[in-house]
Amino acid sequence: MITDNHPFKINEAGHLEAGGVDLVNLAETYGTPLYVYDVSIIRDNCRQFIQTFKELGVQAQVAYASKAFSAIAMLQVVNQEGMSLDVVSKGELYTALQADVPVNKIHLHGNNKSLEELTMAIDHDIGCIVVDNFYEIDLIERILHDKHKTIHVLMRVTPGIESNTHQYIMTGNEDSKFGFNLSNGQADQAFLRLRRNSRIHVKGLHSHIGSQLFESDGPLLAAQLLFQKLDYWHTEYGFIPDVLNLGGGFGIRYTAEDEPLSYPAFVKELVSAVQQHAAAIEIPTPEIWIEPGRAIAGNAGLTLYTVGAMKTVPGVRHYISVDGGMTDNLRPALYQAAYEGVLANKASLPNVQTVSVAGKCCESGDILIWNLPLPAVEPNDILAVFSTGAYGYSMANHYNRFAKPAVVFAENGKSQEVVRRETYEDVVKNDRSYE
Ligand SMILES: *Cc1c(COP(=O)(O)O)cnc(C)c1O
Repeated sequence: MITDNHPFKINEAGHLEAGGVDLVNLAETYGTPLYVYDVSIIRDNCRQFIQTFKELGVQAQVAYASKAFSAIAMLQVVNQEGMSLDVVSKGELYTALQADVPVNKIHLHGNNKSLEELTMAIDHDIGCIVVDNFYEIDLIERILHDKHKTIHVLMRVTPGIESNTHQYIMTGNEDSKFGFNLSNGQADQAFLRLRRNSRIHVKGLHSHIGSQLFESDGPLLAAQLLFQKLDYWHTEYGFIPDVLNLGGGFGIRYTAEDEPLSYPAFVKELVSAVQQHAAAIEIPTPEIWIEPGRAIAGNAGLTLYTVGAMKTVPGVRHYISVDGGMTDNLRPALYQAAYEGVLANKASLPNVQTVSVAGKCCESGDILIWNLPLPAVEPNDILAVFSTGAYGYSMANHYNRFAKPAVVFAENGKSQEVVRRETYEDVVKNDRSYE
C-alpha cells in the first residue's frame, strides 16, 4: 500500500510514478523486467549523511559502497553529491574510473585482492587501500618496492562482534574471513609491520560488522573496541589516527515491519561516541568515514514486471508469475529476503486478495514475494516491487539464459536508460562453437 510517507507516489491516472514519470508508460517504452531509480531519492539519501556531518562540524567522508549498485550513471550521481566511493574489485574500480570519480576519493576493499588489482589501484594513486590480511601486505610491499611509490592504508580489523539479525554477539574466536583479529595479536603484528615500511602511511582503522542494521549499538560497540586498541597504540607507539572508518550496513525499509533508525540519528550517535572516546584517550577526534551502500541505492530503486500465468491451488495459494525472478533479484532465493509491491497500473485500487509472486526460473525456490495483498490481478498487469535498488542489478545473473534487464533513471519528469537491456547476442557472446 502507498502510504503518505512512501518514497513513491500515485499520479492522477491512478498509476505509480517515479521521478515524476508514469511507470506504466516506462514499462511500455523500455519493456519489462525493468529496474527504475528515482534519482532524487538517491540524492536525498546522500545528502542526509553528508549534511549531518556538516551540521555537526565533523571532518568526514561518506563513501558509497558501490557493490550495492555499480554502473557509470550511478557513480556519476553519487560523485555529484560529494560522496567518496568504495570498490572491491578490478571491475568496480574500472567502472569508477570510467565514471571519472576522482581517484583520491576511491577506497579499495577486499579479502583477496590480487596482485593485478593492487597494482591497478597503486598505479592510479587511489585514495586509500583497506588492508585486510598478511598476504596482501606482502603483495603491496612488493609493488611499492618495484614502483618506488607510497600509499595510504586503513587496516581492516575484526572487533569480534557479529550482528545476529538485530542483536550483537561478542565472539571470542572472531570467525570471519575479513580483517585482522583485534584481540589475538594479529592486528598489532600487522600494525607494526605496516608502520615499519616508510612507503606506507597508516591512516587508521576500519571495521564493518554487518548489513541491514536498524540500530547503532553494534557499530558503537565496535568503536569502543577500536579505541581500546588505539589507546594502546597511542601510549605504546605514539600513534595518532587520521581516520576511523566504521563501515556501512545502515538498514532500510523493505517491508512495513522494518523500522530503521533515521540516517541523521545514526550519524549523530556515531559522531558523539567517537568524540567521547577520542577525548577519553586524549587524542584529537579522527576523521570519521562511513560506507553506506544499501542506504543510498536501496529505496531509490524498484523493479517493474509484467504479470503472465496465474495458478490457484484451491484452498492453498494463488500464484501469479512474472517475467523475471531470481535472475534480476537473487535476494529472496539467497537469504529469504522479504519485499512489498503494488500493481503500478492499479495503484489506487483496494486490495482484495493475497498472492504469491513467482519468478520464471526453473526452481521452486524462485518466489519473489510469498504473501502480497493486491487488487484483482490479470495477465499484463504491471507489478512494481519496491526497494530493489541495492543488490538487485548488481547480483543479476544469466541463469536459464535470461538477458539482464535495462536500468532507467527518472528525475524531474524525465527518464533515461542508463544501462541498456541485454540482447540474446549478448547472452551468447562468449560462447564458441566446438569444432
Ligand atoms: C557491503 C559492505 C558495505 C555496504 O554495506 P550496506 O549494507 O550496503 O551498507 C560497506 N563496507 C563494507 C566493507 C562492506 O563489505
